[in-house]
Amino acid sequence: MIMGKSLSDWLADCPPLDDVVRLRETTWFNPALLPAAEGLAAVGLTAVDIDDAADRLKRFAPYLAEVFAQTRPSAGIIESPLVAISGMQQALGHRYGFTLPGQQFAKLDSVLPISGSIKARGGIYEVLAHAESLAVESGLLTPGADYRALNSPQAREFFSHHTIAVGSTGNLGLSIGIMAAQLGFRVTVHMSADARQWKKDLLRSHGVNVIEYDADYSMAVAAGRQQALDDPLTYFIDDENSARLFLGYAVAARRLAGQLQALEVQVDADHPLFVYLPCGVGGGPGGVAFGLKTLFGDDVHCVFAEPTHSSSMLLGMVTGAHERVSVADFGIDNVTAADGLAVGRPSGFVGRRMQHLIDGCYTVSDDELFRLIWLLHEAEGLDVEPSAAAGLPGPWRLLSDPHYREEHDLDSARLAQATHIAWATGGGMVPAPEMASYLDRGAALG
Ligand SMILES: *Cc1c(COP(=O)(O)O)cnc(C)c1O
Repeated sequence: MIMGKSLSDWLADCPPLDDVVRLRETTWFNPALLPAAEGLAAVGLTAVDIDDAADRLKRFAPYLAEVFAQTRPSAGIIESPLVAISGMQQALGHRYGFTLPGQQFAKLDSVLPISGSIKARGGIYEVLAHAESLAVESGLLTPGADYRALNSPQAREFFSHHTIAVGSTGNLGLSIGIMAAQLGFRVTVHMSADARQWKKDLLRSHGVNVIEYDADYSMAVAAGRQQALDDPLTYFIDDENSARLFLGYAVAARRLAGQLQALEVQVDADHPLFVYLPCGVGGGPGGVAFGLKTLFGDDVHCVFAEPTHSSSMLLGMVTGAHERVSVADFGIDNVTAADGLAVGRPSGFVGRRMQHLIDGCYTVSDDELFRLIWLLHEAEGLDVEPSAAAGLPGPWRLLSDPHYREEHDLDSARLAQATHIAWATGGGMVPAPEMASYLDRGAALG
């Protein structure tokens, strides 16, 4: 029984679940999608909250530029390039059987400074927000201060009395660990069994306390939450429930809007924008989608992508049960090489708030993820980790569905003017031998 209903009843009520439980690649369109204005009202956060987050990141920019040399060219702003991938668009057209009208881009969070993944947005933002509130409360920072003052022995001594804890499959731990250790915090990262060895080694080299679990992400998060409950000086960054993480991710949308403008890419009713976001627990893609909806409303379509073995957000949304269901309830094992997406139970915080703003979810097999990273390497010379490739097939999934095209008035004139962005969420810190083995695996699959 799942939520008081047998599996066969679930399958009868939601036919797309049949493919999901059989681990076949599936595309699901969200029947609860609402016009953006109505959907946004359910989020409980607004553009003002995103402004506040963007302002906070600006206050920290001089500090970040000082302590992380890689952020100096962007004056301490952590941002990634948006690049057209016409070679990949062509290669995928061959692979999936039709030429994609419009233009395909990749948003390269794989090369975000400091930690090389989308977690450099939310994770670093939440550490900075926490540091700021502690520093202001104690008088270490006064309003209007130069935040470079935080790069001092006194500030580090102050933060060393505080601990930050987090549960992670790897990349969130990496972002939070590197940022928090730099400020002087004590850091504990609770790592799930999926986490790669090099991520644990790297964190330990920054003085981070890494606790390993022979269990999945949800268990690692639960352990971190418990540790924080036992200690008032420990601040737990809750990947399943954090508004701060969500807002840190949301800031990406306005940066993207500026990049589109710089490239003279129009977004309006006749020039629709489609964004394909690899989804783990949901905070990263949910936050980015929220930000995009506040800016582009109904002209942007946000779609989540998950591994066939970790279809947690899809299941949470299809069933409407969000964090109360896990892939295990449906007999799915949550075993995937896409470690950033290896999440068996979705965030209810994100699922509930975003349930009327997401066009749909689709799943991708691990083999296909490996083929995609190899194709991207061949076609564009870009290297990403398996999780980050999940957004690439998105346009072909959506446009193969005549009903979806009809429902959104996507006629050939509009599609010819459409922009499709695959959010390439990570890969910049993957060691070269590991990346080479990913590519070999993709090449062997052909
Ligand atoms: C974490 C992660 C995601 C997904 O973000 P969630 O907030 O877990 O949904 C996607 N890609 C990569 C590389 C990640 O590390």
